[in-house]
Amino acid sequence: MSLDIQKIREDFPILKQQIYKRPLIYFDNAASTQKPLQVIDAIRHYYESDNCNIHRGVHYLSVKATEAYEEARREIRHFINAKSTHEIIFTKGTTESLNLVASSFGKKFVRSGDEVITTIMEHHSNFVPWQQMCLEREARLRVAGIDDQGRLNMEELEGMINEKTRMIALTHVSNVLGTINPVSEIIALAHRHDIPVLIDGAQGISHLPIDVQELDCDFYCFSGHKMYAPMGIGVLYGKEHWLDALPPYQMGGEMIREVFVDRTTFNDLPFKFEAGTPNVEGVAGLRSAVKYLQDLGMEEIADYENSLLQYATAKLALVKGIRIYGTSSQKASLISFLIGNIHPYDAGMVIDKMGIAVRTGHHCAQPLIDYLKIAGTIRASFAFYNTIEEIDELVKAVHRVREMFA
Ligand code: PMP
Repeated sequence: MSLDIQKIREDFPILKQQIYKRPLIYFDNAASTQKPLQVIDAIRHYYESDNCNIHRGVHYLSVKATEAYEEARREIRHFINAKSTHEIIFTKGTTESLNLVASSFGKKFVRSGDEVITTIMEHHSNFVPWQQMCLEREARLRVAGIDDQGRLNMEELEGMINEKTRMIALTHVSNVLGTINPVSEIIALAHRHDIPVLIDGAQGISHLPIDVQELDCDFYCFSGHKMYAPMGIGVLYGKEHWLDALPPYQMGGEMIREVFVDRTTFNDLPFKFEAGTPNVEGVAGLRSAVKYLQDLGMEEIADYENSLLQYATAKLALVKGIRIYGTSSQKASLISFLIGNIHPYDAGMVIDKMGIAVRTGHHCAQPLIDYLKIAGTIRASFAFYNTIEEIDELVKAVHRVREMFA
């Protein structure tokens, strides 16, 4: 069944506005997606009828809020097909999920001389926590490169695996190149050597159907705000035996079992990793966003977004002097490009004035931008509410930039 885009757009009030007397065209979805009315209503409903601190309360509202929160955990378990709700940890977002694993895993399992493998295409949030943990523990961070289509160099990655490797941490989808990494293949390879794999799913979760049991990844991290849910909420999925083995990341309320003056025992999963009052409103919004995505269908979303990507790629390729970064056949719906020698910021300013939101710069992936020897890129990233007509406007804007700076 194909998506009814005009009907979908009715759910996103923000898209109806005019900027600079033109209809807003929002192509910055890889940074953050817009929120449908269903999600906005869920947050409103939460404050109008359920708001209360959760867990341990005996009164009516606390029980109601707790039940809704735990029901959301069950629904998210189902959405990514985790085995158990114990494996779903609510965090602030991908960044916190990644920091949690790098910090706790490092403390427990990484010793001087050990190695962690990552890739050159990581977002800073899946790079810096591993880099810093390795520096602290005198371990070595090894970084696999890419080929000229922006695909991971699998031979290089495989060659880095040895008896000192403790973890492979990589992104599912590059937020700069759009490349979808062959994560199943990497996970199978790593597991043959008993090495766990963490997947940064920040750019995967909204574009691809995710089944963590089928993938067999050990950790999968994502943010609500990139999947039509609010900011400040995200998920860490981890296999139960790994989460059980990791020490807590933050200390405080909820994550304890018993506290004595001289020692503390810790709560069971998932609460061991959810110290303090959680973002209950965010969880309500995330639950609603997951339902929204399930109702549309992740396969349908992937097909439609891929058609936008193919169309945009073909049209932009005709612009004189354009260079597209990331040309793998396995790509999510984003395009990074440069036009001749025009600085991405200059191009971004002109495109903005035509009512089109694109992102310019290093996209929090400086190691990759340095590797490519460029100053940054212009990035257009598409969601299911975008249209072919909007892409035509982008192509016109890119032609205009070229003419202006020629
Ligand atoms: N990883 C990737 C691949 C991303 O694109 C982003 C966000 N741009 C992040 C991690 C960090 O996500 P957040 O800021 O939501 O924590």
